[in-house]
Amino acid sequence: MFCVECGAEGQELIGAICRECYAKKHVWAKLPDHVDLVLCAHCSSMEVGDDWVDIGSVTEGIESALRNAVELPEGARLVDLKARLEEQDPRNLRASVDVRLSTHGTEFERSLSTVVRMKRGSCTECSKKMGAYYEATLQVRTSGSDREGETEADIESFVRSRTEALRKGNRSVFISKTERVRGGLDFYFSTAKAARSIARELQETRCAEYKESSSLWGWRAGEEVSRMTYLVRLPGFGPGDVVEHDSKDYLIRSMSKGNVYAVDLRTGDARPLKMKEASDFKMSRPASKIPRAVVLMETGSEVQVLDPDTMTPLDLRKPAGFSREGDQVRLVKTRLGAYVLSDSW
Ligand SMILES: [Zn+2]
Ligand SMILES: [Zn+2]
Repeated sequence: MFCVECGAEGQELIGAICRECYAKKHVWAKLPDHVDLVLCAHCSSMEVGDDWVDIGSVTEGIESALRNAVELPEGARLVDLKARLEEQDPRNLRASVDVRLSTHGTEFERSLSTVVRMKRGSCTECSKKMGAYYEATLQVRTSGSDREGETEADIESFVRSRTEALRKGNRSVFISKTERVRGGLDFYFSTAKAARSIARELQETRCAEYKESSSLWGWRAGEEVSRMTYLVRLPGFGPGDVVEHDSKDYLIRSMSKGNVYAVDLRTGDARPLKMKEASDFKMSRPASKIPRAVVLMETGSEVQVLDPDTMTPLDLRKPAGFSREGDQVRLVKTRLGAYVLSDSW
């Protein structure tokens, strides 16, 4: 067999001609004399067709724009593209582009060049953000809370970090506005789904009260559009706090899914309380206000501590399951009594 173009013999043929003749006649790659790249001025995204996509870096964005712009013969596939960029001015870059393409099972290389023109735009999401667009409000209420463990700033950073995590899976998720209002915080969310999922998470992990409601916002294409409101009311207590309920003092150990796991301080009995009962919980001592007292003596049934308020010894009955790790224990004095807390709680 020989090449019908150049007559070379013993070559691998593509159809009736050798690889070299084929490459000359049929293999080509083209780039337009300029490639436009629109980057969002407010976030790291670029416009691709009618869409905006997140990019890791400008170089990555440029390579992807070049990949979209390169033209190849029918049936050929782009294997690889490498660009060397040289700044002409802050808006224009000269790009020397090495392209590897594959056709008829054979790879070929071509060197091209073009000018990348960078433009500034504003992506759909950033435009909405600028316009304070929102579909739902997440209202977190902390009022009536003596609890110092979790401040409004903590709640805000929790909501923001959960939003960032959701945004990784869907770039249309964002908070367009946060307002400090009487009794708590209002977060304006771009999507109702994100607001709801964060509200539910607060409800579960903090045993908060949860309510949702919707209101008519307007019409779009003849259909009613509603705005959702998710209200989350945080209980005025959390793990580590001592509360009074039913004329007994309890230490809250943990809370989840509507249950409060609490220890009766007099007996040391642990039991779950329904969150519904919690509406009459009265904050007795927040965790941050429970002092430690030095243990002077311990017998089988009693502990003697040095009361830090009076600097006198105080004898207290040990609750069931009492254990301590060091020479100090938590001491709680409420209107109902005084207790030592086990380190195992
Ligand atoms: Zn040939
Ligand atoms: Zn943007």
